[in-house]
Order: sequence, then structure tokens, then C-alpha cells
Amino acid sequence: MGINELLKSVHPFSVLNAKELEKLLSESRVVEFREGESVMRIGDIQRHLYLIYDGSVRVMSDGDENASIKTLKRGDIFGEMSLLTGEPSIYKIIALNECRIIRISEKILSFIIGENEKFLNPVNDVLSSLFRERHDDTRLLTALSLNNDPYDLAFTSTDDSIKILVINTGSSSLKYSLFDTSKNITLFTGLIENIGSAESVHKTDTREGKEERHLKIDGIGEALSEMVSFIKESPVSGIGDISEISAVGHRVVHGGEKFSGSVVLTDDVITSVKECSELAPLHNPYNLAGIEEMRRLLPSALHVAVFDTAFHQSMPERAFKYAIPGELYEKQQIRRYGFHGSNHKFVCLRASMFLKRPLHSMKLISCHLGNGVSLCAIERGGSVDTSMGMTPLEGLVMGTRSGDIDPGIVFHLMRTLNMSPDDVDKILNKKSGLLGVSGKSNDMRELFKSALEGDIGSKSAINIFCYRVRKYIGSYMAVLGDADALIFTAGIGENSSEVRARICNGLESFGIHMDHRANRNARPQKGEVIDISKSDSKIRILVIPADEERMIARETLHAARMAGAGHRTAGSIPFVVQPSHVHLSRSDFTTLFGNNDAGKLPVAGLQTAFKERVRLIGPGGEIDEVAVSGSFRDKTQVEVSSTDEFRLGIMAPLRDAGDLEGTPGLTIEGSKGAVKIKRGVIRVRKHIHISVKEALMRGLKDRDIVTVRTENDKNSILGDILVKVWSDSVSAIHIDKDEALALNIKRGDTGDIESIRSRLYM
Ligand code: AMP
Repeated sequence: MGINELLKSVHPFSVLNAKELEKLLSESRVVEFREGESVMRIGDIQRHLYLIYDGSVRVMSDGDENASIKTLKRGDIFGEMSLLTGEPSIYKIIALNECRIIRISEKILSFIIGENEKFLNPVNDVLSSLFRERHDDTRLLTALSLNNDPYDLAFTSTDDSIKILVINTGSSSLKYSLFDTSKNITLFTGLIENIGSAESVHKTDTREGKEERHLKIDGIGEALSEMVSFIKESPVSGIGDISEISAVGHRVVHGGEKFSGSVVLTDDVITSVKECSELAPLHNPYNLAGIEEMRRLLPSALHVAVFDTAFHQSMPERAFKYAIPGELYEKQQIRRYGFHGSNHKFVCLRASMFLKRPLHSMKLISCHLGNGVSLCAIERGGSVDTSMGMTPLEGLVMGTRSGDIDPGIVFHLMRTLNMSPDDVDKILNKKSGLLGVSGKSNDMRELFKSALEGDIGSKSAINIFCYRVRKYIGSYMAVLGDADALIFTAGIGENSSEVRARICNGLESFGIHMDHRANRNARPQKGEVIDISKSDSKIRILVIPADEERMIARETLHAARMAGAGHRTAGSIPFVVQPSHVHLSRSDFTTLFGNNDAGKLPVAGLQTAFKERVRLIGPGGEIDEVAVSGSFRDKTQVEVSSTDEFRLGIMAPLRDAGDLEGTPGLTIEGSKGAVKIKRGVIRVRKHIHISVKEALMRGLKDRDIVTVRTENDKNSILGDILVKVWSDSVSAIHIDKDEALALNIKRGDTGDIESIRSRLYM
């Protein structure tokens, strides 16, 4: 039986017409397995639907050979859940004999589902019932911990060889790297310096060794042409024609508030990047020149912008706003943005892999100590504060930048020494920091050498540098309340055990205990992580080499995949405006009201509510008459709007419902008693409830983060909305009272999903 005949005999493929079948097969592949070979491992991220062509496989739940769940044979399908969740497999599948399996790409299936209702309905039936008995999170997390590359830093998610070029263009330099996703190595890196002078130099580092060419390169266009010729000539690249490069990742310094993730560069995106240039006039124009030139040189490649600022867009307002007149933020966009985002994100993914703990359960402090220096407080995989601000000048002591100073110094210099803004700019950016204090060098290695020879300026520079990092670690301990790991990365952080020791010395009362021998011996290679803490240190101290190029290549791959994910708009979804309310556990309900839970009322914004109301008592105030949701939860949870949060005098984090780890508590009073909860107060993250069928139709997955356009007079875009797929829910966008007020959203208003911003396991 041919593949066509097989598909025609298998439900639900049998409903497809000849053209649809042909399309399906054009994006499918037949993969052969030998007896005993692994078809799918526990923890593998699913991106295909599998149909057995011939032979049979065994589905097993764990390492126990006897733990066979079922045997599948010709015509059987597996991997269906991936269509809806993209989650890691919690089963392993082994070939029982020689077999051939048809692997159908998720993209083509999703396309056909969106086009053909006859196909959608049976798929929906199967998935809805699977979804009802969905496994719990702990099993998924265990599965994920068995995956050696859960964040795709080694590109294991692709079977194909995709060549990705990573570009970083500066005012007088071009840095580039080439990756091949089928090989977990950087094929080569290159650096062209002194562009615009007669003494330009092109340094390359390939498997065949390092080379240096001296030439005259006039501008970025010439530099990129020089790079292209090198790539074509180098036998290491394996590239005969430059068009074999299918994706280019461009490092862009500033993404303003517009970009909270990496994006495929279209004309519209480029216009938006140009608008961010005002915020980074010394960087973005050069990045843009590189983008435009590369788009011309490689028109058929996908170009992606990866922003230094994007990772920090998750900072809360209290961390990103300066205490200056509000209109300077609103009109001039003066706020803290933060930089080094790609590396802070990279090291937190590496730390999660190394500690074998899910990202969302960890609090981390990342110390990027290179020529530029920044610290980042990371909670649940996102930046909550960082030391660099509107520009990379704020924060710590750097090679040549001052970091934090009293802004009054600027006016003092202008008044007393008659300096111009440019003079002061030059002093603080180019002549300060390690160089300024030591009067000798901006290189930590040089400074240690001369300090040990008795140079006072060098000693002073090192001391100020380390003291300032320590001070910031202390303040980020206060920001996070606690930390699981302290990470050292970048030139100084990776290489200087002396600096690491000086920083950590005196932090023992925080639970930071360094193993000094491990610290001295730590020489991590790219891709490695070294733990330099004592075994009883509460906080792990990790050394993680930066690999910005790899991170940009990974982001490029994922942004390209997201762009191809093909979300479809399928009509409006109503908003539901939720007032502050509590979900009680049954025992807390009994304490508060006795056993009387008979009466329920409809309450605007809540599906049902008990007729009883509670009073919330926080450290700073009280709120009366708060609704009690009509269903019980395992743990009591209080969902407050931001106005009510303020009234209670509490800092409630923005969380998904049920995610209560590390949240504050308060006292709840009912008619018969009171309970004091230690944790459970959250501001609930905006979310959309959507049915399996609608998710299939729209090409969405459970836990996607999307943006929504409001369909009212304001027509605004809401970002960061979590998609929750349920087997049979009524579609609705849940937002809190304050957000609704700010956006002028009233009962009955609707919104439409505009784009998918991020996807789990992508
Ligand atoms: P980066 O900006 O990450 O490339 O870091 C560059 C800086 O790292 C240099 O300016 C040096 O100060 C520092 N660095 C590199 N290697 C060492 C080392 N072995 N010991 C101390 N500092 C180092």
C-alpha cells in the first residue's frame, strides 16, 4: 500500500481531497527505524504528528522495559498533543521491529485544519478528550529535565542543516559568526576593526586557525562585502553560494518599549527600529545600516532583530521609571531600559539546565562583568531589575564608564569648568571607570598586575569596582527577597577569580559561601557551567561563559519559527472585566463562614460567586465587600486589582492563577471568623480562555503569549496575554478592573488576537 492509499484509509486523513493530501505529503517525510531504535525519547519537544507506515512501536512511560503502555502499528497515529501544547513527550517510543514512520509537519497540519472544517472536527474530538485527561505539570517538568537541550541552545530542535549568520555592526567595527544547526559548533567568527581608516584589519577564527588580513575598508558596506567573500572562500563554511545562508540574526542595541522579544525584520519593523534610534543614536543607526545592507546582499534570507533591551521589558514600573516629571517618560520615553539582555537571558537558561530546575521556580542574580558591566535580578525567567538605565552608562563601574554618579556632578562640571555636554559625555563614557580611577588601564588583568606591584590607583579602581558590585548584589537580594544562584559571566566574571572572591567576601550572611579552591580553579569553556560555591551554600555561585552569538542564533531560529507558526484571526473575543475577588479553600471557607456554602449569586466578571463577602486586611489598609468565587481551590488565592493592591499596602506580583510561590499574604475576615494566609495574594496576569476547537482554528497553543487589539474607540494593543486552552471553555479575555478602566474597556467590548509574542518550548 502506498502512502497515499494509507492516508486515504486512516481517519481523519480520509476526509482530505487529493490536493490537500498532496500538500500534506509535500511537507512530510518518511523516517526509517531499526528494531530497538528509539523513535521518541521522554523530554523530546514535539513538533510533528507521526503516522506508522509499516512495522510497530511500543509506547512506554519510563525506563522500565516492562512499563509498556501500548503497542502501535500500521495506520496508528502518535504525537497528537503536540498540536495543541508543543510540550515535551512524557513517553518514550521504541521501534519493535524495522519500521517506517511518516512524520507530518505541524505547520502543514495546522494549515489544513484552518482550511478544512471536515478535518478540524474529528481532530478537535480527539484532542478535546485527550486534553480533559491531561497530565499534571510535575510529569512534564520531569520529562523536561530529561531533555539535554530544553532551551535549544544546541539547536537540537531542528533536523535540518540551517545556516545562520549573526551580525553585530558598530560605528567602526563588524563582528560576525556563522552557525550550522546540524553541528553544535560555531563554524567561525570574524571581526573587522577600524572601519573607515586606512588601517582596517580583518581577523578570523575558524577550525583551521586564526588569520589576520590588513586592508583598507571604507564603510560598513565594504566591510560586509569583505565578510561575504571570506565566507564564500573559506572551506570551513561549506558554503559555495552565499544564498545558502537562510537566516541572519542582527544584534540591535535598542528596542525601546516596542520590542520585548526578537522579531523578523519587515519594512514595518525596520521603521519601528528607526524610531528607537533617538534612544541610542550611537548604536542603532549602525545596526540599521548593517540590516539594510545585508537585506540587499541576502534578499531571500530571513532577517531577525535581536535586541539588547528586550529581555528587560518585563521590569515592573517601579523598577523602570525614574523619579522625574511624568511627561518626560510619556513624551520623551525617558525611563530605564537595561542592556546586555541576550546574555542575561542566556545565562539564566544555562543556570536552569545546570541546576535542573525549571526557570519559573528560580530567582537569580546575574553579574555580567566585562568591559561593560551590568547586574540583573531575574525572577521566573524574566528580568525584574537591572543596573543599566536609559543608556549603558548607569549602574556599576565599567572599563571606561563611571556608572552611578550624582547627576549634580554634570552641572557642576559644566558650570565650574565650562564644559560642554559633549565634554562631560566623553569624561563619563570614555575616561572614567577602571581607566579613570587607575589612570592606567581599563583592563582588569593590567590593573591586577600593577596593583600587586604597589600601584595605588589600580588598587583603588579594583576596590571600587568590587565594592559597587557587592552593593548591587545586596540591593537585588532585597528586590528578590532571596536568590537561588549568583551568576558570574563575561570577560571579568568568567576569568577573574580574584574579582569574584573580592565580591563574595562578606556576603556569607546572605547564604553566599564561596569554595575558594573551586573558584581559583574555575576555567570554564564556552558551553560549560562551573559551581564555585561550598556544598552547604544556600545560594549557588555559578561561573557561566557568555556566548552572545549563539544566543542570537538561537533567537533568530525561534523568531523565524514563530513567524512561520501561522496564527489566524478568527473573529472577536469578548472581554470579561474582573473585580478583586478571592478563591477560598474549603477549610478556609468553613473558618470564615461556618458550613453555609449553599447560596451562590451571579456577579459581574465572575462566573458564580458565593453570596458571602469578605474583608481583606493588608499591612497598609483594608477593603470591604470583596466577592468570593463560587468554586473552591486547593489553596486560598486572592486576586486584586492594582488599585486594591495599593489600598492594601501590599506588593502583589503579576502571576498566573494558581502560581502562588513567593507571593505575599494577608488577613481575610468573614462573618464567623478570620484566616491569616502566609501567601496567595496576586494580581492576575491578563489571560484568554479559549476552547480546543478555537485554538486549532486560530493556530494557537496552550500557554502562548499573545497581543490583543481592543475593538473599541481606543483601539489599543494589549501585550503579554496568556492563552489558556480548555477542552470546552467559552472564549473570553479576562482583565482586571483597573486595566479595563485605563483602556476604556466596557462590558460587551471585544478584542482580537493580533500576534503571538512567544510560545513555550519554542
Ligand atoms: P568582555 O567585554 O566581556 O569581552 O570583557 C573584557 C574584559 O574582561 C577585559 O577588558 C578585561 O578587563 C577582562 N578580562 C578578560 N580576561 C581576564 C582575566 N583573565 N582576568 C581578569 N580580567 C579579564
